[in-house]
Amino acid sequence: MYRPIHHGYIEVIIGPMYSGKSEELIRRLKRAKIAKQNVIAFKPEIDNRYSSEDVVSHNGTSIDAIPIKSAKEILSYIKKNVQVVGIDEVQFFDDEIVDIAIKLADEGIRVIAAGLDMDFKGEPFGPTPKLLAVAEFVDKLQAVCMICGEPAHRTQRLINGEPAKYNDPIILVGAKESYEARCRKCHVIDK
Ligand code: ADP
Ligand code: ZN
Repeated sequence: MYRPIHHGYIEVIIGPMYSGKSEELIRRLKRAKIAKQNVIAFKPEIDNRYSSEDVVSHNGTSIDAIPIKSAKEILSYIKKNVQVVGIDEVQFFDDEIVDIAIKLADEGIRVIAAGLDMDFKGEPFGPTPKLLAVAEFVDKLQAVCMICGEPAHRTQRLINGEPAKYNDPIILVGAKESYEARCRKCHVIDK
């Protein structure tokens, strides 16, 4: 891969759920570790899908990560010798994450962020769109549509097995909520 050597930069990995964002982030961070680079990874504290101390993919691969509540906590962990910073589930942070990523890259660090670019409504998600705009490199991954098998770039929210409505509340007490990858044609949002 063609990457800068003399300054830091920002890489972003985006796509719907199950597209392999965490897997790809983990792969890049592990390779940096093999190259004996000083690597540190973060994730929002709310993401306790499998483990509170790791970034874990749906495929079971994992890497150590520090759970943090707000983007600015990252700065307190950055010591002089840090070379690579990984951030998973970046959509859950506030816009401050964009300035922090820029600051780290300006200081010579390789910043790799992974996260959802769209919410279940198919709308831009949190700070991710801004991060794309300021990044040097963006990889948009596709999952496999669970209905038709085509490449999927959206995430379908299901409530008790049925497509969620546009205005359904984020927290639905007592309802069984799930998500699946879907293509443009099979993604359903009832307004
Ligand atoms: P993300 O971080 O984008 O949610 P992960 O890296 O956690 O994705 O998981 C990717 C893995 O999810 C794949 O390697 C595959 O084993 C599994 N998987 C489950 N459902 C799907 C799907 N619909 N499309 C692609 N991969 C899927
Ligand atoms: Zn489809």
